[in-house]
Amino acid sequence: MARTRRPLTQEEIQGFRQILEKKREEIWEEIRNELKSRVSEEYHSLINDVNDEEDLAQIDLQEEVVLGVMEARKKELEAISQALWRIGHGEYGRCLECQDWICLERLKVRPWAVYCLPCKEELERLGRI
Ligand SMILES: [Zn+2]
Repeated sequence: MARTRRPLTQEEIQGFRQILEKKREEIWEEIRNELKSRVSEEYHSLINDVNDEEDLAQIDLQEEVVLGVMEARKKELEAISQALWRIGHGEYGRCLECQDWICLERLKVRPWAVYCLPCKEELERLGRI
């Protein structure tokens, strides 16, 4: 795989922002569907309006239902939020470990990546992630 380590252009960053926002929306769509499958009909219209965790907290759903649904998704959502935060702060695309640029090919596969591939492999080997 080719490695393109360089700062991202504004266009590329905006492209990744759109991908990340779309992905986040897709995850929330899945969460809404999953929640609806587990709760009674009276909650369904409320769940339609849920777009983030704050919205979710407003609905008086049973905690274990919410936790069960959220657990699998939480890491993805956190990673996406972090990536969007980094875009907003001009830090997107830089490896948290070595500060070098994460290669473009890797970001295309995992736009929420915070480590470049060599660092990720090393950190995994060390058991740090
Ligand atoms: Zn790195």
